[in-house]
Amino acid sequence: MKFGTKAVHAGVEPDPTTGAIMTPIYQTSTYVQEAPGKHKGYEYARTQNPTRDALQNSLAALENAKYGLCFATGMAATDTIMKTLSPGDEVVASNDLYGGTYRLFTTVYAKYGIKFHFIPMDNLESIPAYINSNTKLIWIETPSNPLMNIIDIKGVAGIAKSKNVLLAVDNTFATPYLQNPIDMGADLVMHSVTKYLGGHSDTVMGAILTNNEDLYESYKYLQNSAGATPGPQDCFLVLRGIKTLHLRMKQHCENGFAIARFLHEHPNVSKVYYPGLESHPGFAIAKAQMRGFGGMVSFTLKDDNVETALKTLEKFKVFSLAESLGGVESLCGHPASMTHASIPREERMKAGLSDSLIRLSVGIEDSEDLIEDIKQAIAG
Ligand SMILES: *Cc1c(COP(=O)(O)O)cnc(C)c1O
Repeated sequence: MKFGTKAVHAGVEPDPTTGAIMTPIYQTSTYVQEAPGKHKGYEYARTQNPTRDALQNSLAALENAKYGLCFATGMAATDTIMKTLSPGDEVVASNDLYGGTYRLFTTVYAKYGIKFHFIPMDNLESIPAYINSNTKLIWIETPSNPLMNIIDIKGVAGIAKSKNVLLAVDNTFATPYLQNPIDMGADLVMHSVTKYLGGHSDTVMGAILTNNEDLYESYKYLQNSAGATPGPQDCFLVLRGIKTLHLRMKQHCENGFAIARFLHEHPNVSKVYYPGLESHPGFAIAKAQMRGFGGMVSFTLKDDNVETALKTLEKFKVFSLAESLGGVESLCGHPASMTHASIPREERMKAGLSDSLIRLSVGIEDSEDLIEDIKQAIAG
């Protein structure tokens, strides 16, 4: 089945009790049993819920995975993966990560005796030096947030396999429409479903997808034991969102490209971070492993100081100043003070994240209006 057909149909069956074509919102905490232990596969809503089941199956199908699990937020999904580690274990992570992921690793899990190495992964040859017998996991984000760095997923998967270490990919920015890390050798895909998968800025949710049955069983155990599960109403909203994922992503990519090109040619702009530009250092790998370049664009102005960046952000009219990304409406943000404020400034500088960087989540509006808005905001 092709992607658009899967987005509309995969994982979703007409409701067995009524034939309802849309999976109902099973707003219930428990399920009546005929006799103790004799039930229809559903006992308690933390453990199983039919609306959640449909969504988990749909997401698994989109990522070409056998198993899918949904969580209350993207961070809850990442937290579940980290909970399977033990004190003394080590993780090698790419150094340009979502701020909340960095915060969870360094302020929560470091305390439990897990050691993290944050390294640039554009040069594959530098990775093995950070892997030893304690290393259990490699964690990458590609394209990365907010610098759009591209990591060669197949290349890192090869290193992970050869060292017997798991590879997890945060695929939030690309979505399964643009890349499928499991097909490239990753063991796990994590999503902030909040973003493009939900797509309408009305839900927070996370997911883990995998082909590995043992990993699936341990995450499912944690999903039920720790209990960070999403409610059925949210699952319904994401099921609805997914049906247009392919249409939305097409427009996000088209608009993202148009805006990246516009910024690239603008005299007031010093640097554009977009993997679809040939000047982007990750262009060749992005072209090989992605089916498009997405709707996230970051840039810096020639007048390179924080005040100018902040003033520019206040001038946007169609783009709204807000955290988050991946919704149908365009957003702009200042990573250094918003999404990435939880990363110490020194670490941000090391990763190349300037205080004046502006990040755009390009929506699906008409690109002419978006470009006009950017034009007046950066006019100076
Ligand atoms: C938003 C985001 C997360 C965290 O997800 P939540 O749903 O906000 O908990 C993780 N990774 C990336 C790349 C994100 O953009």
